[in-house]
Amino acid sequence: MKIRTRYAPSPTGRMHVGNLRSALYEFLIAKHDGGDFMLRIEDTDQERFVEGATEIIYRTMEKTGLIHDEGPDKDGGYGPYVQSERMKTGIYMKYAKELIEKGEAYYCFCDKERLATLKTEVVEGKEITVYDKHCLHLSPEEVQANLAAGIPFVIRQNNPAEGTTTFHDELYGDITVENAELDDMILIKSDGYPTYNFANVVDDHTMNITHVVRGNEYLSSSPKYVRLYEAFGWDVPVYVHLPLITDENHKKLSKRSGHSSFEDLLEQGFVTEAIVNYIALLGWSPEDNCEIFTLDELIEKFDYHRISKSPAVFDMVKLRWMNGEYIKAMDFDTFYEMAEPFIKNVITKELDLKKIAAMVKTRIEVLPDIAEHIDFFQELPEYNVEMYTHKKMKTTTETSLSVLKEVLPLLEAQEDYGNDALYQMLLAYIQEKEYKNGYVMWPIRTAASGKQMTPAGATEILEVLGKEETIRRIKIGIELLENA
Ligand code: GLU
Repeated sequence: MKIRTRYAPSPTGRMHVGNLRSALYEFLIAKHDGGDFMLRIEDTDQERFVEGATEIIYRTMEKTGLIHDEGPDKDGGYGPYVQSERMKTGIYMKYAKELIEKGEAYYCFCDKERLATLKTEVVEGKEITVYDKHCLHLSPEEVQANLAAGIPFVIRQNNPAEGTTTFHDELYGDITVENAELDDMILIKSDGYPTYNFANVVDDHTMNITHVVRGNEYLSSSPKYVRLYEAFGWDVPVYVHLPLITDENHKKLSKRSGHSSFEDLLEQGFVTEAIVNYIALLGWSPEDNCEIFTLDELIEKFDYHRISKSPAVFDMVKLRWMNGEYIKAMDFDTFYEMAEPFIKNVITKELDLKKIAAMVKTRIEVLPDIAEHIDFFQELPEYNVEMYTHKKMKTTTETSLSVLKEVLPLLEAQEDYGNDALYQMLLAYIQEKEYKNGYVMWPIRTAASGKQMTPAGATEILEVLGKEETIRRIKIGIELLENA
């Protein structure tokens, strides 16, 4: 049997890290076995619909390389692929009526006022009304009369008070619940739309889905879904309910964390491939404990039996490390394209930005780190003269002052400000004076940057600064040291 998986997002905003993980795992399960990966848009909850969210879904899938074989834009014979369009075909109503005929569902005409008087229960943090089966006991004539009179209705699942329901989840094993605990959930809402609870079953079956991967917030409803499958006589797909993703404080990763969505992470300067790689490891690990993978390598290695059911902690330190590895491995042109806006944020002077980019490529974890490494090119920061004192280089403020005074005329006379030429010129001076390299380079680099740490050596910095600015900064250094 060909494996068919689906990513079934609701267009309600940005792409949550948890959703992207579901999409990735669904994609990997299908591709690992040469199966089909489908995109289905679940837009039946009109109240939660957010304008532009569908575009975010398409954009993210494309950018991350999770290319679907079928979807609203790629007909594979199982369409429509958008639930609101599926609804117009009458499919959900047809199946709901089939359940009514089987005694597995019933019309409910209770109005808000009556429902408000019923008991409520808190399930998964949400308050739900426990329906008392009032309308199950209406006679067929009463139901017909209500329908004919146009009284608004919903269709509810009819769950028995006795017996148990058992189903299997790949991570959690066999789960058995008392049917009495299952509420008569709504299948068709009063606006005619199906609920997610009903549509996911009808769609996964009619679209031939073999594996369902989703967050474990759906685990508690799954017995009800399984009862629907059984009522129809359909096979239940393989269920993989993924563990919660938490932040470092073991709280559910939420918008408040500031990095709960794919777009947040992009805005914070993470690289798409690193994000995907990191997300793959949020609950899964390969046999060999390798950590860096391309998408193709993931396809080859992914085995959903190795997903762990313990909560996955979103570890920013690790993601940053991984991102740094991706940046190091990236070819320069690709890096430059991404880095340029971050460099231009800091540098408005006409400097060689490519040279600056090359200096930072191996030193950063995320793109916004660039700023702190290069800000001194734009403007010499105020610095403390004590920075000239360096034990290992054997420099003091006095030695630095005399070195800077000696190199100033050399730098003024120098025409070629290329790194090599500058280096050769200074080397000749160092040898002539029988100094150690650091004894000369340290004060020059300090005067040129005003910083203890720089992304490159003295002459590379002078090359980027150019002659005029170099001279100006050396003079500032001399003045500071003279006044010290
Ligand atoms: N539309 C659901 C959601 O976005 C999908 C859950 C599922 O994959 O079945 O949470």
